[in-house]
Amino acid sequence: MTFEQWLQSRLTAHGYSPGPIDGVVGKNTIAAIRAFERANRLPVDGKADETVVRALRASASAVSPHDMTKIPDRDKDQDNVAATKHKWPRQKDVTAFYGGVGKSQTRIDIPFDMYLAWDKRRRITRMTLHEKVASSAQRVLQQVTEIYSHKERRELGLHLFGGSLNVRRMRGGSRYSMHSWGIAIDFDPERNRLKWGRPRARLSHEDAVPFWQAWEAEGWLSLGRARNFDHMHVQAARL
Ligand SMILES: [Zn+2]
Repeated sequence: MTFEQWLQSRLTAHGYSPGPIDGVVGKNTIAAIRAFERANRLPVDGKADETVVRALRASASAVSPHDMTKIPDRDKDQDNVAATKHKWPRQKDVTAFYGGVGKSQTRIDIPFDMYLAWDKRRRITRMTLHEKVASSAQRVLQQVTEIYSHKERRELGLHLFGGSLNVRRMRGGSRYSMHSWGIAIDFDPERNRLKWGRPRARLSHEDAVPFWQAWEAEGWLSLGRARNFDHMHVQAARL
């Protein structure tokens, strides 16, 4: 993630509308910076200077020095976005691409505090995913620590793990769920029930948009954003 993308993600997390999180600081991004400056009683110049960055870094709802997001280096070379973008197979082609269900699994480290959704006192530090998607998921989760503060992740429910690898049939069907290949992850299933749409599902709200865009930048698909159901779920397969 570039500094410019971080800037746009944070403006979005604070409820402003810089447009797509594409790293291009155009007139929408500048207008959002100005609106943010005005609301925070900062000099209104549309520039992401140090005071703006400090205010943006703070949690969108409460300010605590321990509750800040990480800022990517301003001078960091832009990651080669095209090179990190994956083209995942369509759902009907997952066996050809990933192999048999439950095969070729590995584990990734989770870069923030995460707990089992069904046993919230149990912290987890790793999750199981298919070898082909592991590094991509790892990059997205790392970005989540840059986009959201600890407190914001909790408000969104991103700290509640609802499952990754799970070899099972789809509900009410004979086909395997995408979880069977370890290519799907669920977050906070309690507040994002399968049949809930917008705005009932927590992850359908505006402040979750940077979260989904981080996945989409790596080619993953949100069923919530694509079909307005199962807002807990993201998968490395197209419809
Ligand atoms: Zn799922």
